[in-house]
Amino acid sequence: HAKKMGRGNYQFFTSEMNTAARTRLALEKNLRSAIERNEFMLHYQPKVDIRTGAMVAVEALVRWNDPQKGLISPAEFIPLAEELGLIIPLGAWVLMTACQQNRQWQDAGLPPLRVAVNLSAVQFRQRHLVEFITQVLDDAGLDAASLELEVTESILMQDAEEAALILANLHAMGIHISIDDFGTGYSSLAYLKRFPLDTLKIDRSFVRDISSDPDDAAIVRSVVALAHSLRLKVLAEGVETEEQLAFLRALGCDEYQGYFWSKPVPAAELEAMLRTRAAHPALPAQSAADTA
Ligand code: C2E
Ligand code: MG
Ligand code: MG
Ligand code: MG
Repeated sequence: HAKKMGRGNYQFFTSEMNTAARTRLALEKNLRSAIERNEFMLHYQPKVDIRTGAMVAVEALVRWNDPQKGLISPAEFIPLAEELGLIIPLGAWVLMTACQQNRQWQDAGLPPLRVAVNLSAVQFRQRHLVEFITQVLDDAGLDAASLELEVTESILMQDAEEAALILANLHAMGIHISIDDFGTGYSSLAYLKRFPLDTLKIDRSFVRDISSDPDDAAIVRSVVALAHSLRLKVLAEGVETEEQLAFLRALGCDEYQGYFWSKPVPAAELEAMLRTRAAHPALPAQSAADTA
């Protein structure tokens, strides 16, 4: 009887495995054809100066627009795209599209801003990355100062020597370099000064409970002090409420991003936002909170 049950369990287990494997295989096949058919689109989320309320940059975030399933979040396909090497063509498309979009906004006479693109580890280590980015900027007719690249701590720590070299090249071109999700990885603080960086983006897990959790507030305060002493800017991710914003401002954060100001939106909506801003450039300075 035990044997029979064991076998039953085994069969159950393998059929589960098969389902998982089939699902994955289907996703892999769909992802490959999605890249061939170009079923992706970018949404853009503003990065805002915490004191003036001015939009300083926009982050490009990729979505898969599946004809059947609708918009699929990057969390569901970026890891697989990385594993399969598909992040190289997909990442190239993201970079080109973001740069061309920024060129179009500038051509339309909108206030100049940087467009930020997320780089995955596989992309960062690809050969000729610097040449490729140079080519993309050239093709788009965009200057390097209008581009920002977001990399994670783990990308930097994998091979710090090599990473420092790559970043030095990109930074020397005039590209703005940010560390994404800062505080969630294991970067050694001593290493930070070896990388040519411009901005630390504090992960949203520290922002969520900032008004109620003194530990989170202490962490943010420390990151701000560290960043400022290294002459870096600090951006807080995932700001959803006025209260969080007030705390971040009091702690000395320079910039923020989050649903409070805007979700990531399609290019046309971002453009409309920019036009409104261009028409009303004088936003009230947040002077009350500055004294907090
Ligand atoms: P990320 O670069 O840290 O981007 C921030 C994520 O937080 C985005 O999720 C954004 O929509 C979300 N977010 C922004 N504000 C808020 C907020 O106030 N509250 C909450 N709860 N969430 C907020 P999204 O677009 O789903 O992207 C997830 C991740 O996928 C990104 O994290 C990034 O690591 C990756 N990703 C997105 N696009 C690309 C890409 O083109 N290339 C690569 N390599 N990775 C990408
Ligand atoms: Mg990012
Ligand atoms: Mg982030
Ligand atoms: Mg994050």
